[in-house]
Amino acid sequence: MTHGGDTIFGKIIRKEIPAQIVHETERVLAFRDINPVAPTHILIIPKKPIASIAAATAEDKELIGELLLEAAEVARREGLEEDGYRVVTNIGTHGGQTVFHLHLHIIGGRPCQWPPG
Ligand code: AMP
Repeated sequence: MTHGGDTIFGKIIRKEIPAQIVHETERVLAFRDINPVAPTHILIIPKKPIASIAAATAEDKELIGELLLEAAEVARREGLEEDGYRVVTNIGTHGGQTVFHLHLHIIGGRPCQWPPG
């Protein structure tokens, strides 16, 4: 299995650059966002280098399900479940995506606004 593509997250997966890793399995990795927008801001990514959810295929069905379930597990361990939290993924320019390796943002520790900006 290929682990990590040619992005900064690929380097984190391959442990070429440091990150505050909070959870790791064979297929997913969760680490703290370097520029947090909330008291808890964690990114969870598949180790497989998929550019965004828009680039995922039927082959990734199980992996995407696992990613979401692991996000909920990370949030639970971080104590976010009681007050709630947000899981969001940005896609492309209008989505605000800056790193083209699929990631879910887990944002908690403060109320989130709706609709988002
Ligand atoms: P997005 O804008 O949805 O593509 O989110 C990319 C996120 O990656 C941003 O919230 C950045 O702060 C975060 N980020 C970029 N580089 C790093 C890094 N080296 N370690 C942790 N988070 C990072």
